[in-house]
Amino acid sequence: MSTQDFADLQLFITGPTFIRPEIREAGLLPEFGHRDSENNKRFTPIMAGLRALAGCGEDYHVILFNGSGSNAMEATVRSLVADGECVLNVSVGAFGDLYHKMAVVNGKKAAQLKFEPGQAIDLAKLEAALVEHKPTCVTFTHNETSTGVMNDMKAVCALVRKHGALPLVDGVSIFGGAEIDLSHSGAATYATSTQKSLALPAGFGILFVTPEAVEKAKTVKNRGFTTDIVGQLGRAQKNQTLTTPNTTLANQMAVQIDHIIHTEGIANRFSRHLKMQGMVHAFVNSLPGFELLAPEGHRSPTVTAVRVPQGMSVAQLKKVKEAMRAKGYLFDPGYGKLNTDLEEKGQRVLLRLGHMGDVTPEMVEAYLEALKPELSK
Ligand SMILES: *Cc1c(COP(=O)(O)O)cnc(C)c1O
Repeated sequence: MSTQDFADLQLFITGPTFIRPEIREAGLLPEFGHRDSENNKRFTPIMAGLRALAGCGEDYHVILFNGSGSNAMEATVRSLVADGECVLNVSVGAFGDLYHKMAVVNGKKAAQLKFEPGQAIDLAKLEAALVEHKPTCVTFTHNETSTGVMNDMKAVCALVRKHGALPLVDGVSIFGGAEIDLSHSGAATYATSTQKSLALPAGFGILFVTPEAVEKAKTVKNRGFTTDIVGQLGRAQKNQTLTTPNTTLANQMAVQIDHIIHTEGIANRFSRHLKMQGMVHAFVNSLPGFELLAPEGHRSPTVTAVRVPQGMSVAQLKKVKEAMRAKGYLFDPGYGKLNTDLEEKGQRVLLRLGHMGDVTPEMVEAYLEALKPELSK
């Protein structure tokens, strides 16, 4: 093997995302003991910075799980849905389906409310499902990465709470790229990970949890070990992880969070994402036959899914991917299973444009310029 063969592609997929040279270099910082005082030097500012990015204070606990966003999501299902209770999994795409699968494979009594790809959660239909299933917990996706649809988190949480249930939110692909205002969101838990809009390597699932959710968890049986938010919290309150963390990632995360808060600035980061979203929308609108999938008002600030012209196939999109690789980029030819389903039904397939994390408007501009001739062939 030769590491010389590892291509240094600029990633325009929807995670993992582009990592800045400074963060690659932070991977060379010294390893440390996770029960030693060195641990605090990294994780105390990481925990504070994550709260600042979320827009919350001590009203939410922050837990770092080893693994990725899925580990944090699975922990909410294991810890918060008691035997005999129903969890309602609301899905607007592949990641909403994933939360449902986690409930099912953990033996929970789970009902699913599904919307067509490209649609956002319809509150009237949600209310009918809440009345029908009387769930104690409701999962949903804040920002659906397979379709580029952003749900109205506050409105969904308010409705869920009106019916006495706890809202468990998957915010994996938006956290760090847009204002969350967690303290006013109504979410009981909010899960994310490092390798999307935070622009770090994968390795931690991040979970924000309210004290009421922790109290509920204490009453639930069989929460597992790494999926137990009560057990996790014991360590998280000391700014530690329950099991041994990736110390390379911890070093990179400490540097990155500090950069976001103190160098770029949170507000600047969020407005950069909106600027890139606008550039991508203008690009799509300039291409004949291409169309934004998500409806106005529900378009993600971090990922855009695009309906390609009728007749353009998944195989053609894979050729675009290879042409872009030759130009030094990793292109996203749409979410695999969704595109297979759409193609089978004779419907227009999708491509995705990731614009999250540390990519800059200049990088997006160069990327779109390189992509345009490939999509016009
Ligand atoms: C990527 C993603 C996940 C899965 O997260 P991992 O960190 O890969 O485990 C879940 N939900 C959404 C919306 C995602 O984009």
